[in-house]
Formats: sequence, structure tokens, C-alpha cells
Amino acid sequence: MKKISLLGATGSIGRQTLDVIASHRETFALAAMAFGKNVASALEIIHTFQPKLVCAETKEVHDALLAHVPAGVKVVFGREGLIEVATFDDADFVLNALLGSVGLESTLAAIEAGKTLGFANKETLVTAGHLVTAAADRRGVAILPVDSEHSAIFQCLRGENKRDAAKLILTASGGSFRDKTREQLQGVTVDEALNHPNWSMGAKITIDSATMMNKGLEVIEAHWLFNMPYERIDVLLHRESIVHSLVEFTDTSVLAQLGMPDMRVPIQYALSYPNRLELNGAKRLNLWETGTLHFEKCDFRRFRCLAFAYEAGKTGGTATTVLNAANEEAVQLFLNGQIEFLQIESMIEKALSRHETVQRPDLETIVAVDRETRDFVRTVV
Ligand code: NDP
Ligand code: MG
Repeated sequence: MKKISLLGATGSIGRQTLDVIASHRETFALAAMAFGKNVASALEIIHTFQPKLVCAETKEVHDALLAHVPAGVKVVFGREGLIEVATFDDADFVLNALLGSVGLESTLAAIEAGKTLGFANKETLVTAGHLVTAAADRRGVAILPVDSEHSAIFQCLRGENKRDAAKLILTASGGSFRDKTREQLQGVTVDEALNHPNWSMGAKITIDSATMMNKGLEVIEAHWLFNMPYERIDVLLHRESIVHSLVEFTDTSVLAQLGMPDMRVPIQYALSYPNRLELNGAKRLNLWETGTLHFEKCDFRRFRCLAFAYEAGKTGGTATTVLNAANEEAVQLFLNGQIEFLQIESMIEKALSRHETVQRPDLETIVAVDRETRDFVRTVV
């Protein structure tokens, strides 16, 4: 029985993780969970899965929850609460499905506690990949990717000699606006941006897909997870989201992982690794039905956020912390209706160009740069 601490239980990845747990009750159990503000959803999860420890984002949310929680469930809140869930003694596996760099401290705490990590929370790796991977190496902790592209690469590399991998190729659907020119992006609405052609996901990552920043964050995520230089990570537009990513080897052989777009596949693989389990209710890939698959080179002038991400990644240090924090804030401002879609990238560009990079920053520096960048983006508006 694998006992799981789930951070971000009420979110899109969190709920799909619970689906996987529910369909394999003999194999997985929910030991502890953390959520943000969604009390109704948290209560439903508590009653169904009976975790022993629950963390809410704030004291107010904690108070609202407390009266309805069955006896025997401990409820905590805030930064310390999140760390308590990430290091909970009863759990042997932590699945981090939090949104944003708020997941950094709890990730480091889980690693220090020796927990195996299932990892969806890419912003944490973008903001401080060097701290997370160094801590994981030191403690001998495995980080198992949940992001579909990274899960695909992880599966392609399994059993291979890592130094034989010449190139990682991340596929990208292109997001909601893939068929629009830059001119046609003027004045697009939040609702249009949230209408992703292939995947149903949380709001922030859906906007990131439309700006292509999601792929930029994933390039940086791949750099850290697979210890691969940026020059050997490519992005390939692939509108069907059937080929989830590819690895090219030194002998020119290419391996890919394919399947219908369903996040429960990489989530379950991280949970069941190194084994595979049946996936209840999942659609099988029938290539004869799909017929044609499309691939295109990615235009960096069309998708400027992708160019920013490569640049920040190559600069290293706090550059990626700024990239991530500016993006998180700008996307929130767009979702609130306070800025236009194209202003997301201009905000990120401004934040990056004014920043003086610090190399090999410690946790304090990262937290300070993250906060300062967010303040900057808010005042620019
Ligand atoms: P959602 O917005 O759907 O969910 C985010 C979760 O985090 C919610 O449970 C939310 O709680 C919780 N949360 C947010 N802030 C805090 C906080 N300060 N303290 C505690 N909990 C908090 O996001 P997604 O599930 O879409 O994405 C999660 C991560 O997974 C992201 O990093 C994303 O990039 C990555 N990812 C997502 C994919 C997807 O298909 N959705 C695919 C690949 C990667 P509440 O809602 O209760 O406020
Ligand atoms: Mg992805």
C-alpha cells in the first residue's frame, strides 16, 4: 500500500490523482492533503478518502473547514501546515500538484524528509531547479515527473544509458491561439484563451499554453529533471497531442511515447512506477482512427514567451525566478481582466530586462527576487 500526501488536492491534477487513487484502493491511499480555498471540494475529498492530516491555505479557510471535519482528522494551515503535510510520517509518497512557486518550500521539506516525489508543480523547478535537484541528489530521493511531456521522456529513457540521449524533443499543442497571427492576438478575451483544443486543465496553465510560456517552463523543467543542456532541448508543434514527447539518441534512433491526451496516464505512472496498472475508463489509441499526425517547427517570433524562457534558462541563476514570478503575476492580471493578452509577454520582458541576475542563489535570495518581481509587475499596471 502506497500512502500519499497530495498537495493541491482540489485542483485539476489533484482531482485526477484522486480518481487514480479511487480506482486502485488496494494499492493507494490518501494519507494527507493540502488545498487552497475550496472548502466544499476539500470536505468532499475528506469524507471520501479519510486523510488523517489536512492543510488549508489560510487561518480563515481552516476555521471554515474545522466545524465540518470528522473526529480524528487534524487540520492545519499556512506555510507551516503545508510543510507538515509534505513531511507527514505516515506518507511515503508526496504528489506535488500545487500551482506556482508557493510549492518550493514544501518540496524541499519533502525531499529532506526522504519522500519520493511525484511532480506536477513545474513553477517550483523553474524558480529554483538547482536547489531542488541538488537536495534530491544529496538525499537520494527520486523525482518522478507528472507533466505529460516529461513523463514521456522519462519513459523513453527508461533502461537507456543517459549519456546516449542526444536530444529531448518536447511536443506542444500550440494552445488556444495556435492558428492566430500576432496581429490577431490583439484584443483576444479570457474566455477565448481558456478554450484549449486538447486538454482540460487549471486556468493558469491553460493561459500559459496560449502564450506558449507553458512550453518555455517545460523546457526549463526538462533541463533540471534530465540534466540536459538547453542546446539539446527542442520544441516541436504537434496539434493532436498524441505523441507526448520524444528522445533522439546518438545513433539517430528516436523513441517516443504515445497515447490519447489524458493526464491520468502520467499521474498514475508516477504513482505506480516502476509498475504499470490498468487505467479505468481510459480511451485507447487507435492510430487508424487518428489517421494523420501533424508536426511543425516552432516560430520563436510568433511565440515570444518561448524565446524568453530559453534565454532566461541559459542565463540561469535568478533569471528563471524572475521569468516565473513575472509570468505568474501577469497571467493573474490577465485572468482578472486588468491587462490585455499580449501585455503578459511585455510584462515578462520588462521584468527580465531590469533584473540583475544573481548566480547560484540561495533560498532566501530566490524568495526575495520572487516577491520583488511580483511587486514590480503589479506596480507597472
Ligand atoms: P489548479 O489551479 O487546478 O489547482 C491548483 C491547486 O493548488 C488547487 O488545489 C489549489 O487549491 C491549490 N493551491 C493554490 N495555491 C495554494 C496555496 N497557497 N496553498 C495551498 N494550496 C494552494 O492547477 P492545476 O492542477 O492545473 O496545476 C497544478 C500544477 O500542475 C501546475 O504547476 C501546472 O503547471 C501543473 N500541470 C498541470 C496540468 C493539468 O492538466 N492541469 C498538466 C501538467 C502540469 P484551491 O483550488 O482549493 O484554492
Ligand atoms: Mg505539459
